[in-house]
Amino acid sequence: MTGGAGPAHRVYLDYNASAPLRPAARAAMTDVLAQSGNASSVHEEGRAARAVIERARADIAALLGAEPRAVVFTSGATEAANDLLSPSLGDVGGCADTLLVGASEHPCVIAGHRFAPDRVRVIPVDAAGRIDLDALAAALETIPGRALLALQAANNETGVIQPVAEAARLVHARGGLVACDAVQWAGRGDCRLETLAVDALFISSHKLGGPKGAGAIAFARAGLHIGQPLIRGGGQERGARGGTENTLAIVGFGAAAREAAATMETEYIRLARLRERLEERLRAELPELAIFGGKVARLPNTSAFALSDLTAETLLMALDMAGMAVSSGSACSSGKVRASHVLEAMGVEPALARGALRISFGWASSESDVDRFCETFQKTVRDIRARRASLAART
Ligand code: PLP
Repeated sequence: MTGGAGPAHRVYLDYNASAPLRPAARAAMTDVLAQSGNASSVHEEGRAARAVIERARADIAALLGAEPRAVVFTSGATEAANDLLSPSLGDVGGCADTLLVGASEHPCVIAGHRFAPDRVRVIPVDAAGRIDLDALAAALETIPGRALLALQAANNETGVIQPVAEAARLVHARGGLVACDAVQWAGRGDCRLETLAVDALFISSHKLGGPKGAGAIAFARAGLHIGQPLIRGGGQERGARGGTENTLAIVGFGAAAREAAATMETEYIRLARLRERLEERLRAELPELAIFGGKVARLPNTSAFALSDLTAETLLMALDMAGMAVSSGSACSSGKVRASHVLEAMGVEPALARGALRISFGWASSESDVDRFCETFQKTVRDIRARRASLAART
């Protein structure tokens, strides 16, 4: 891996699970490590902590096209989703009555959180992984009360990009609200609230190259509020999230967001080329490789694919021993390889889905990482198939 982000003998291609810490984030955190103040204190040390938090808030607000005062820090995207997906989310139009979620959402969204199970409707995705807008329009006609749609900007397993603004138009036309999981899109594409046309969105620090343990919610306008914040306490974050702010993680998050924003356009092109190189090289030797979501717009850094005769479990172990850190579907299920609900929602045959691997790269990835992965993957497949053939010949 290049960029000093890990041991030289390893190739880390699992950025969608967690990106390596950017040097800029590390440096910013090192600078505040020795600070002792609590950002709520009025003395000089407290004001210093407040200042670095507000600087980070401004950087994140700029990335998301939000007013700094409309950004709420959380411990990550999971907490943000738990907070946001609540019937108490509302504005002058009232609160949300029914939650609509895309079938390929991350588990932290699909759980539905504080909505009663009978107030959660799952909207199907098509074979390419994109939300079915006709099904969404039909659901909006029939559900009771005001809708809250939770839709991700891009999928963590396949990289498929959702038509968020189109979906939002349908929901808004019926008076509903839209909350967007922009975790995988933030820092990779334009994730401003206005572009996505959503009421609120949330992101996670460690997917951007910041530290783990920080995330943010951004609201599109004043008046939108969570009536019953999940974490209540000392009134921090304007009452939206109690508890002393995690200054260190927030500062690293802000620095990562700043750098991601500054390099986004050039990185988009560089990463898309890397993905093209990866898929072309793999397909040259393995034309039978199935690439999920390969015909629609995807994140530039993500490729999910499978061979129908090899399980992800077998491949992951062999690749790990050969120095390659990759993933089978979502990291939240890693350690235990289970069928992906995303691929299932796309109608992928279970036998093929069991073989799904996800490669995701980012700021420190290079052509040589991709080339080493391709060579290792192809050799691994050849070896496993040869072993199987020789076993079969003996029996
Ligand atoms: N949403 C998406 C699309 C993700 O990929 C993830 C993490 O994998 C999350 C939400 C949860 O993020 P966090 O680790 O900050 O809780």
